[in-house]
Amino acid sequence: MIRQYELIDLIKAYDPDMDEDLVNRAYVYAMKMHGAQTRASGDPYFSHPLEVAGILTEMKMDTASICTALLHDTVEDTSATLEDIKRLFGDEIARLVDGVTKLSKIEFQSAQEKQAENFRKLVLAMSEDIRVLLVKLADRLHNMRTLHHIANPEKQKRIALETTEIYAPLAERIGIHKIKEELEDIAFGVMNPEARESITTRLNYLRAEGGEAVVQRIIGTLKEKIGEAGIKAEIFGREKTRYSIWKKMQRKNISFEQLSDIMAFRIMVPGVQECYHALGVIHGLYPTVPGRFKDYISLPKSNGYRSLHTTVIGPENHRIEVQIRTPEMHEEAELGVAAHWTYKGGTQAGKTDGHQYRWLRELMDIVEHAQKPEEFLENTKLELYQDQVFCFTPNGDLIALPRGATPIDFAYAVHSTLGDTTVGAKVNGRIIPLNTQLVNGDQVEIATSKSQTPSPNWERFVVTGKAKARIRRFIRMQQHEEYMNLGKAMLQKVLKQEGFDYNEKIFNNDFCRKFNADNLDGLLVGIGSGHIGSREVFYALHPEHRPKEAPQTIQSIMAASEKKTHQKGGASPMPIKGLIPGMALHFARCCHPLPGDRIVGIVMTGKGVTIHTIDCETLESFADTPERWLDIAWEEGEDSPESHIGRLIVTIANTPGALGNLSTVIGKNGGNITNLKIVNRSLDFWDMMIDVYVRDSRHLSDIIAAMRATPEITAVNRARSR
Ligand code: MN
Repeated sequence: MIRQYELIDLIKAYDPDMDEDLVNRAYVYAMKMHGAQTRASGDPYFSHPLEVAGILTEMKMDTASICTALLHDTVEDTSATLEDIKRLFGDEIARLVDGVTKLSKIEFQSAQEKQAENFRKLVLAMSEDIRVLLVKLADRLHNMRTLHHIANPEKQKRIALETTEIYAPLAERIGIHKIKEELEDIAFGVMNPEARESITTRLNYLRAEGGEAVVQRIIGTLKEKIGEAGIKAEIFGREKTRYSIWKKMQRKNISFEQLSDIMAFRIMVPGVQECYHALGVIHGLYPTVPGRFKDYISLPKSNGYRSLHTTVIGPENHRIEVQIRTPEMHEEAELGVAAHWTYKGGTQAGKTDGHQYRWLRELMDIVEHAQKPEEFLENTKLELYQDQVFCFTPNGDLIALPRGATPIDFAYAVHSTLGDTTVGAKVNGRIIPLNTQLVNGDQVEIATSKSQTPSPNWERFVVTGKAKARIRRFIRMQQHEEYMNLGKAMLQKVLKQEGFDYNEKIFNNDFCRKFNADNLDGLLVGIGSGHIGSREVFYALHPEHRPKEAPQTIQSIMAASEKKTHQKGGASPMPIKGLIPGMALHFARCCHPLPGDRIVGIVMTGKGVTIHTIDCETLESFADTPERWLDIAWEEGEDSPESHIGRLIVTIANTPGALGNLSTVIGKNGGNITNLKIVNRSLDFWDMMIDVYVRDSRHLSDIIAAMRATPEITAVNRARSR
């Protein structure tokens, strides 16, 4: 076990300004809290957090990370609380400990490829701070080193699988090659001991067959040749890991026969120029194997890895793989992101072109600009996958959803039928409202009922396209059916009054087309929704019954309402999808919908359709009458030349010139005030309602943003209710 002063010395070796007192306190506190607890090995439990801290000193981590390592199991496994940690060690360490604790609660169960990728994303999304992930990886590394003490082979295998599928790839992704290889190798031994054993045997055989001597001779030759070119180089023979040999054998269906299958040579030179120089020497001396040259210096891998790779037929006709790199590149390859701040102020570490990962690029950016290691690590937030949340089904399957998703979105993501029949949801065992936004790691259980159907209200809070589409489709179907039943009843009634029987055969498609309906269903829907008069249908069937004094036809009714609709806006029809042609239409005065808003239509008896924004508070009063809701939307990309009125609720300071500034800022941004009403006037503030002519919702948003940037204007919002 590392002693207290030894740990301090290890940190001081790379960070002379470390907070010695803080580390000492964390050491003593963790030791005290874990007390007499023991590990499966029989060792005192405290040896584990201490070893984890030791691993982190190898990665030259900052004081907060070391303290986090010492404390990482106290909240989960001892009587210590997060509040205790916060009080004793401050917010930052408490936040990190909390992060590691949360990560420890995720259990990976599925062996499916897709699930593994989701889990890796979940871990990254939950890490938030890269130090959480680094502590977690060190924690996992020590647990793997001591895995053989765990008696239950099933548990051993589960942990090994999780390590192979989740933690080793994450270590690779952030470029910590050294940890990745060790994690993989131990896990390999647990999951497939026979394969690892046979590879070990084969390796030993190749070594005994004189391999060792061959390697030394190759190193000697290479050193000589490169030395002759005037380059100072160190050369190492490096055995590939058993797991990587195994993977290669699986991938290419080959066995390994010769030294080159297991050995790689690494040439270490002082600078980038020497890398290319040494490469030139080797390519000049030995025939190259085509397709094997890779320049990861000018085009680094996405995890930041840089080196030159080539394969040649080298000394004594041995096919050899060669990596050429600087010590700096080597440290980066072994330690990944953690290596970067040891080179702060260095010359080459900032060269980061070509990285795919946004967060890594940001990371490098911070490396370049941060003054101190602490500052660098503190600023390193993992922003990857911040626009997604990852939630579990009760079976442990992981469902990835966009941020803001609710249990309804979750249910539809699992299965359409599950969504359609949802009546309630439990998150982490607690019943919650269906519009609750889910967070990372939530376990979601959906309660269903066969008689349940999608509610129009859901559409107001779901965020996934699938959920929206299913809900809308259902509402349309439901409306359609209701209209059809109503239409049929109305038609039957009028026929009965006039002494005829209802017979579906009379209403063939030709007849229906007179009323712009494709077939009987369409005709009935038209009657039910009030667009076609049932009596008009009867007169069309029996023209002799039409009273002479009432010459009005369906066409004339249509024409009249058409005229009414467009009398204000000129000839162009409203660019709105989903309206029933000919229906009168007006915009609600509560919310003043604009092009670009999400909108909904409400059928008002005798008044046609009123259009509201989807978040208008007035809509709540129609919650119980879903049949009146119309599924409508603005035509996309339709640039209406017309102006629309947007209504703002504004609070301004009661100071000289405030009102002037207000109208200036609106005018400057292309808005035209058409109505302004002071609603409330106090000594300090004026509340007012302003109607502005704008092009669309984006235009109004721009104006709102500009107003918010004006000092005298204390609040601006769009009107959402009366
Ligand atoms: Mn642990």
